[in-house]
Amino acid sequence: MKKIHSLTGMIDLLGQKDNESSQSDKIFNTEKSLIKIFKNYSLNEIRTPALEDEQLFNRSVGESSDIVNKELYSFQDKNEKTISLRPEGTAGVVRSIIEKKLENDFHRLWYLGPMWRYERPQKGRYRQFNQAGVELLGYKEGLAELEMISMVISINAELNIKNPKIKINHLGDNESKESFCNDLKTFLEPHAKNLDKRDVDRLNKNPLRVLDSKSMDTQKVLKSAPKISDYISQDSLNMLETVKETFPNENIEIDHSLVRGLDYYTGFIFEAVSEDLGAQDAYLGGGRYDQLFEELGGKKLPAIGMAIGIERLAEISKNTSSRQTLISFMILSDKIQQKAYKIAHDLRSLNKDIVFEVSLGEGSLKSKLRRANKDKASYAIILGDEELASETILLKSLQEDNSDQKKLTLNEIKKFISSI
Ligand code: AMP
Repeated sequence: MKKIHSLTGMIDLLGQKDNESSQSDKIFNTEKSLIKIFKNYSLNEIRTPALEDEQLFNRSVGESSDIVNKELYSFQDKNEKTISLRPEGTAGVVRSIIEKKLENDFHRLWYLGPMWRYERPQKGRYRQFNQAGVELLGYKEGLAELEMISMVISINAELNIKNPKIKINHLGDNESKESFCNDLKTFLEPHAKNLDKRDVDRLNKNPLRVLDSKSMDTQKVLKSAPKISDYISQDSLNMLETVKETFPNENIEIDHSLVRGLDYYTGFIFEAVSEDLGAQDAYLGGGRYDQLFEELGGKKLPAIGMAIGIERLAEISKNTSSRQTLISFMILSDKIQQKAYKIAHDLRSLNKDIVFEVSLGEGSLKSKLRRANKDKASYAIILGDEELASETILLKSLQEDNSDQKKLTLNEIKKFISSI
């Protein structure tokens, strides 16, 4: 029969004990490291549904953005309601806080989960990918900006990212953003014939996006275009300097051409990039979205957030191994399976820091040992008829420099396991 394949741009993740540097294991370990950091920064977890009313994304991420315009996975459900697989996490979080009427309080939140965008798959770009995110809700511009950048620095350190660069910019308030966009449009329109075709389209829908163009022709025209730094207030420029001064040992660059692909950002924005990633060089990005609560029908609530691309972060992370001692428990005779399993169950409960694998499959001792070696187990515990009758077990070291094997009483093996 014809085989069924996974959908384009959607990958399966499968952990392998014997290969901690596999893409899947790096992704799982990256997620664990991030959760540890989120807890250290005193954040609470929020989990919202993967499916939302399509309107939520039209009104937040914005109809002029590529994400909504071209990449949204939208369907009619059985009730003919148009629903979308979420392309990002912030809109759902904001919807949830408004729905629960929790806008009167401060919230420090994190989330983790799959997102979907119908993009052209390439290196570092999938149609289903995982994002972790942080949202600090209720906090005005100031300390919250520093807290976000501090978190980015902690992520870089914990995951041992080589030569990370943090780019920051300020889009000003709504008024300065609008006046800059108007002037940019007026300036660019007469140059339309020299711009990339896609940028002409962006110019009409959201002129800010033109700044992000990868086209050399467009960048040439932009050289003499109005600059956002001439439109934003001195306070906004000071905010950028404050971030740089607070973290003097970090590679933080003020980049006035930095814009984000989602429409809801106003004020301070940032991105972390790594040369190791190639063309898709950003592995996290975020910024302030002080208007979004009102735009989604809630009360005014200042907020700042970021989203971290797990696949991209895992790819450049040099520190994702979380190896624990692995013990493989082998039962050699069918007749003693239940009694032997009971011993395994008791031993396993003695030490929560070890990985204890009971070899459940059939096969000879030789094949079980081969498997344990492949999985890089440190010890094998072997139990056959003879051992069970004399209430002993065989402990065999599988470490490279040590192949000792000894008979231990049940009490001795209990002590040994507890001591690892
Ligand atoms: P964004 O929500 O567009 O600001 O993206 C935040 C981060 O998510 C990016 O910096 C990427 O690391 C990651 N990301 C966005 N789109 C994709 C994708 N299609 N595939 C993999 N990672 C992505």
